[in-house]
Amino acid sequence: MSLTQRIKEKAISLGFDLVGIAPADRAPHAEAYHRWLANGYAAQMSWLARDPERRVTPRLVLSGAQSAVVVGLSYFTHNPPAELWNDPSRGRIARYAWGLDYHEIMLPRLRELGEFINTETRFWQKSEALNWRAYVDTGPILERDLAAQAGLGFIGKNCLLINPRIGAYLFLGEILLDFELEYDEPIHCSCGNCSRCLTICPTQALPTAYLLDSNCCISYLTIEHKESIPLPLRPLMGNWIFGCDACQEICPWVRRYSQVGRQPFLHYDPEWVAPNLLELMALDETAFRSRFKGTPILRSKRRGLLRNVAIALGNWGNPIALPILQQATQDPEPLIREHAQWAIERIKSLKV
Ligand code: SF4
Ligand code: SF4
Repeated sequence: MSLTQRIKEKAISLGFDLVGIAPADRAPHAEAYHRWLANGYAAQMSWLARDPERRVTPRLVLSGAQSAVVVGLSYFTHNPPAELWNDPSRGRIARYAWGLDYHEIMLPRLRELGEFINTETRFWQKSEALNWRAYVDTGPILERDLAAQAGLGFIGKNCLLINPRIGAYLFLGEILLDFELEYDEPIHCSCGNCSRCLTICPTQALPTAYLLDSNCCISYLTIEHKESIPLPLRPLMGNWIFGCDACQEICPWVRRYSQVGRQPFLHYDPEWVAPNLLELMALDETAFRSRFKGTPILRSKRRGLLRNVAIALGNWGNPIALPILQQATQDPEPLIREHAQWAIERIKSLKV
């Protein structure tokens, strides 16, 4: 068995659902990425614009990089009952955040894979110790490009990687290494004439195929955006309070082929999947930290999550939310106060 095959077997034995290997070349979409940044589509994600040439050139990340071992882990879990999804008194959370922080699951496995490759190359190929680095969306790398090059899937019009066998609910990770391996071929699949994700997007954050405008993407707004949510977008956000899966849920590839991973690790619990908005609005800092300890939700901080919850309560439009929102207008955090006030006015206007 070749070294490349042994690496792939090891990756699968570590629980990854997909593994492929690509040459560590400059990203095929490097120029498109530069244009995307220049047009301001990264919004406030300033780290994406920091040294952008490095982000599209793996050899500037790891000197001498020759190969990228790319892995995928499915985070699909079966859909909750429809009444939960459709209950506007509950907030919706993107599927990837229905459990503990995926970095904690992916990174130790990737590092074990890196150590394995290091040992194999030294003992079997009689080479020097490898230079390698592992990332799970933690490094300056265009992950989806690398994954597509490694044959893990194709990039859809919603800008996500789609695997024709297990769908698009995938965590990706990669190991860059300064050693040549046997490379996989990209998959030749496409969206064809479909454009459902472009049509379904509530905020028109996909103005055209293969272009994401983060400025109005609910995923960006609810997680990465740190300030006030622009007024025209608030009513369009519905009850999404952390991330958004609308452009995935509608995708025929996702609907037809999504598979639960071989080692599922996300819970299915109504209070994780669609928590009660009134309860969330009442969380103080201590309760927020305790409830979301170890989960991706911490990224938004309490101020960001309660800002989103206030919008969802405003969109629900039920006067039962008025007392807790009134209380939130006294919150020490100005961001929460402002959005609570907006929600109160929206509920009153919807009632009339
Ligand atoms: S995540 Fe939601 S808001 Fe963002 S592009 Fe997809 S459907 Fe639109
Ligand atoms: S919904 Fe259609 S256009 Fe969008 S990614 Fe899926 S297949 Fe492609």
